Amino acid sequence: MRKKIVAGNWKMNLTLAQGEQLINDILQAGLKLKEGQEVIVATPFPYLQKAKSLLKSYPGYFVAAQNCYSEKSGAYTGEVSAEMLQSIGVDYVILGHSERREYFQESNAMLAKKIDLVLAAGLKPIFCCGEPLEIRQAETQNAYVAKQLEESLYHLTEEQLKNVVIAYEPIWAIGTGLTASAAQAQDMHAFIRSQIANKFGREAALHTSILYGGSAKPGNAAELFANADVDGGLIGGASLVAADFVAIIEKLA
Ligand code: PEP
Repeated sequence: MRKKIVAGNWKMNLTLAQGEQLINDILQAGLKLKEGQEVIVATPFPYLQKAKSLLKSYPGYFVAAQNCYSEKSGAYTGEVSAEMLQSIGVDYVILGHSERREYFQESNAMLAKKIDLVLAAGLKPIFCCGEPLEIRQAETQNAYVAKQLEESLYHLTEEQLKNVVIAYEPIWAIGTGLTASAAQAQDMHAFIRSQIANKFGREAALHTSILYGGSAKPGNAAELFANADVDGGLIGGASLVAADFVAIIEKLA
């Protein structure tokens, strides 16, 4: 069946020494991951190789980049390609985080290109989707998320989709302390799965891991993860504190 995943998104936080300490503290907890469970650490670019070297002998632990560029290679000063990430042993790439959509004007069409490059490099995208507050208040969140899925993922084959993880992150819940209720999360995750089933078939939909992100913490993770269509979490703030991140991983069903 599909994987259960807890991924930590460090964003632009921590020095290399602090990041190393955080990973060592997580490993020190000696978690016994069950079959099909994965822990992913999404570090800033400069720490990816170090993170990989610390985690590579621990089964079930993987490394993610937080972004990559939408072109394969060339004169794009300051950018990082999917192939470069593959060449240093990165496993996953977060794409379409709401902060990138907002501050760097990443469109659904641009994200479709990034998804293609990440898959072509043999990496797995963690595709983020989710609605802003005004859309939730207008109760049009399903149409909003459906459009994100359609414009960034629907050009893929069923085979390609198997390597995509989806993260539902309602923007109003990211870093705000507001969490979607377990019922709101389940409703949207079930909706996303039904959309995937309509487009790619039931088997593909059952295979796709859909993570919840938005102020998840040790106190609410169990309730969120207990839902049938919530396959784990993408964790921001709480992933920076080893004890909290470990406690969230322990809530994986
Ligand atoms: C995120 O940025 O992906 C996120 C979920 O952040 P937080 O957990 O801090 O809300």
